[in-house]
Amino acid sequence: MSVYDNALAQLDQVVVLLKDQFANKPGFTQVVERLKTPEQTLQTELEIELDNGQTKKFSAFRSQHNSARGPYKGGIRFHPQVSLAEVKALSTWMTWKCAVTGIPYGGGKGGVVVDPKELSTSELERLSRAYARFIAPKIGPWQDIPAPDVNTNGQIMAWMVDEYKQWLEAQGQLQVNPLAAFTGKPLVLGGSKGRSEATGLGGVFVLEQLAEKLGFQDKNQVKLAIQGFGNVGYYFAQHAYDRGYQVVAVSDSSGGIYAETGLDPAQVLNLKKEQGSVQAAAASLEAQPISNDELLTLDVEVLVPAALENVINQDNAKRVQAKTIIEMANGPLTPQADQLLAKKEILVIPDILANAGGVTVSYFEWVQNLQGYYWSKQEVITKLKALMDQAFRDMWQVKQEKQLDGRMAAYVNAVGKVIKVMLVRGGLKT
Ligand code: NAD
Repeated sequence: MSVYDNALAQLDQVVVLLKDQFANKPGFTQVVERLKTPEQTLQTELEIELDNGQTKKFSAFRSQHNSARGPYKGGIRFHPQVSLAEVKALSTWMTWKCAVTGIPYGGGKGGVVVDPKELSTSELERLSRAYARFIAPKIGPWQDIPAPDVNTNGQIMAWMVDEYKQWLEAQGQLQVNPLAAFTGKPLVLGGSKGRSEATGLGGVFVLEQLAEKLGFQDKNQVKLAIQGFGNVGYYFAQHAYDRGYQVVAVSDSSGGIYAETGLDPAQVLNLKKEQGSVQAAAASLEAQPISNDELLTLDVEVLVPAALENVINQDNAKRVQAKTIIEMANGPLTPQADQLLAKKEILVIPDILANAGGVTVSYFEWVQNLQGYYWSKQEVITKLKALMDQAFRDMWQVKQEKQLDGRMAAYVNAVGKVIKVMLVRGGLKT
C-alpha cells in the first residue's frame, strides 16, 4: 500500500462520519470525488551539470491538491525515496493541515529524487535553481507557495527566490513579489522570526493542552520519547524540557539513547554536533544506547515520532506502550497501526494538528512579506499559540461530542471545512 493509499483510506473514513452533515448529497459526493485526486500534478526530469563537467538527471514533482480555501502551500523535499505517490499524499495532508488551524491555503507538496549529501554545494544550488525554473509558471504568492521540507532549508529557498525573481523579470512580471512566493527563507531575505522552531514549539503547545485535558499533575513525571532529532524533534524536545517535561529518549537515523532520569536536549545537540550522532553521545551522558524500534515501544506517557512516515505499523503497533502519541512527522502511523492503537486505547494527536505550527508561521511569513512589515518573535509566538490552542480545542470538542479518536476528530473539522467551501463556491459540474 503506498503512502497515497493511506491518505485516501483516511479520507474514506472521514467521509462516512461527515455525510450526514451535508444536505446537498450529490454535491457532497462530487466534492469527495474531487478531493481524491490532486487538481494538478507536475513531473519532469531536471538535468544539471555536475562539478566534473558531466550532466545528471533527477526526477522532480509538484502536486497541487486543492485550492478551494486559498493558494496551494507545501514544502519541497529532497530525498531518494521521493515519488509521485508521496508528494500526492503529502499535498493532500497539507490541504487538511491548513484547514485545521484555519489559515487561508490549500495543499501542495513537491520533491526531487536525490540524496543531497551526494552533491557539492554548487551542484545543490544548480539543482535548486533548476527546480525553481520548473515550477515557476505554476507558483506565486496567490497561486502556490513552496517552503522547505526534509533535506531542504532556508539557503535552498533563497536560491529558489533568486531564480524565480530572474524568471519573473524575463517574463516582464515585475508586479509579482518573489519573496511572498516562498516561505522558510533566511531572516535576511524576508524570513519570519520564530519560523525555525515553529513546528516543534507548536507541538509543545499541543502537549500543554493535552496535559491539561488529561490532568497530568507533575510535568516532571511525564516521560517523553522522541524519534528524530532534526529540526522538529530537537525543538520539540527543547521546548518540552524548558517547560519541565522529562525527555527520557531521543534518536536520529543511526539510533537512540535512553536515560531514566531524563536528558537535557541542548546538551545532546552539542554532543551530536561534536560526535556525529546522538548514540555517539551516549557514554558522555551516561545514557543507554537503544535502537529506533526500542524507542518506539518504551513505556512512556508520550511518544513523539518526529522523523519519517510509516514508522509505527502493523509490525510494531502491538508493542507500543505509550499512553499518547503526538505525531510530529507527517504520516508516521499507518492506518493498520491506527486501528491496533485504538484497540489499546492509545490516544493519537494527528500530524495535521500536531505539526501545523510550521505552516502556520509560514503563513505569518507570507503575510509579513505581502505587507512589508515585520513582527517581533514574541508577536509571532503569541499568534502561533492562539491558533494552535484553538485548533486543539476544536479537535477536542468534536472528539468528546462524537466519541471519535483524535485523528478522526481533527479530520472531521478539517475536511468538513474544505467540503463546505467547495460547496459554497459551487461550479462543481464544470
Ligand atoms: P530533519 O531532516 O531536520 O530531521 C529528521 C530527523 O530524523 C533527523 O534527526 C534524522 O537523523 C532522523 N531520522 C531519519 N531517518 C530516521 C530513522 N529511520 N529513524 C529515526 N530517525 C530518523 O527533518 P525535520 O524538518 O525535522 O522533519 C521531520 C518530520 O517532520 C518530517 O516528517 C517532516 O515532513 C515533518 N514536518 C516538518 C516540518 C518543519 O517545519 N520542518 C513541518 C511539518 C512537518
